[in-house]
Amino acid sequence: MADGQAGAGPDNASHNDGRPDDAATNRSSHDGSAGNGGGQRGARDPGRDNLALARVSPDPGGVGLVDHPVRLPGPEEVEFRVALCGLCGSDVVVYDADPHFGWVRPGTVLGHESVGTVGRVGLLVPEEIAPGMRAVPVSKVRCGRCSECAAGRVEQCRRPATLGLGRHGTACGRTIIPWHCLVPVPDGLPDTTAVLVEPTSVAWRAVVEVAQVRAGERVAVSTTRAIGLLAALIAKARGADVTMVGRSGPEYEAKRELAVRLGLRSTTAPDPGLFDTWVEASGSGKQLATAMASVRSGGKLVLVAMYASGTRQPVNARARKDVDILTSYSSVRADFEEAVGFLLTVPQVGEQLITLFPMDRAVEALRLTARAAATEDGRPLIKAVLQPGAWNRDSGA
Ligand SMILES: [Zn+2]
Ligand SMILES: [Zn+2]
Repeated sequence: MADGQAGAGPDNASHNDGRPDDAATNRSSHDGSAGNGGGQRGARDPGRDNLALARVSPDPGGVGLVDHPVRLPGPEEVEFRVALCGLCGSDVVVYDADPHFGWVRPGTVLGHESVGTVGRVGLLVPEEIAPGMRAVPVSKVRCGRCSECAAGRVEQCRRPATLGLGRHGTACGRTIIPWHCLVPVPDGLPDTTAVLVEPTSVAWRAVVEVAQVRAGERVAVSTTRAIGLLAALIAKARGADVTMVGRSGPEYEAKRELAVRLGLRSTTAPDPGLFDTWVEASGSGKQLATAMASVRSGGKLVLVAMYASGTRQPVNARARKDVDILTSYSSVRADFEEAVGFLLTVPQVGEQLITLFPMDRAVEALRLTARAAATEDGRPLIKAVLQPGAWNRDSGA
């Protein structure tokens, strides 16, 4: 999911039938693709507690830590043991109680940006999905029941559910997911970078598939968050001349330093008319206006953010300058695979972008993400990442 402020995301229309599907809801709601569970469905794992960051009420700030019981995997499911889980725009809209996401049920575990390992596997899971395999899940899980899924056009699934919104996400120690949504992670990619595969897949889709950025293009990226920085790195790797555009303010200098460390140029005052392509990833109405003013006539403006309801759309400027406005919010499996390939070229980038939080600070991590606030030590918070296996007393933090 894209970062940004608020508003209607892609889930708004298509996923409101999704629902949490495991024992935490105490219902037999997962009655489709997996068939009968061989008598195991609904059985509780007698193992240790499984803390999860979940929506606890439909009110603003209505998130908290809950115990999330995990059943045994069905025939086509696996137990996914989460090493790290990043927080993102879709978690923020729940935290903020954005009315477009009122359909997300209390009890739903948040989070869709995770890396982990396969635990127990169901009877019909292919051999290559073996216990111990490292993987990231794609964020949209196909339903397996609709006519598109039946015809094998799974990317066109009519009722996909997004992890952390329409079904339980991965901001927890363990969860149950269909094996088909796992993308393997090679050994060369540490967890601290692999946790960025989902935002990288969103950035990849925006830069490569949607904007089709080419070598020599002058590209601006306006952002405060991970997707924009990753989009800038991808555009640069494709040979574009990339400028990061930030908002002047107390945090700008730290963000500029980060951009420089990543090998990117940064400014708060872009030259009007200079850019062939502008990737707007901040979700700010002001940046959207700057973008329209600064992209050249006939250029491309790519929106990879969500905007607060009421944000003014630069429709007149668009017509005057003949700018192509393209939107790109989410990503598909092929983008995840491309993202893994790209991150292998910058395997240590995660250390620059993520801030780790033990699980007892999960709510605080989400609050800081929602407010785009800095961390305690004053560093800009680019991507808050939960460590489900860590608790304050364990981590020594
Ligand atoms: Zn995300
Ligand atoms: Zn489907």
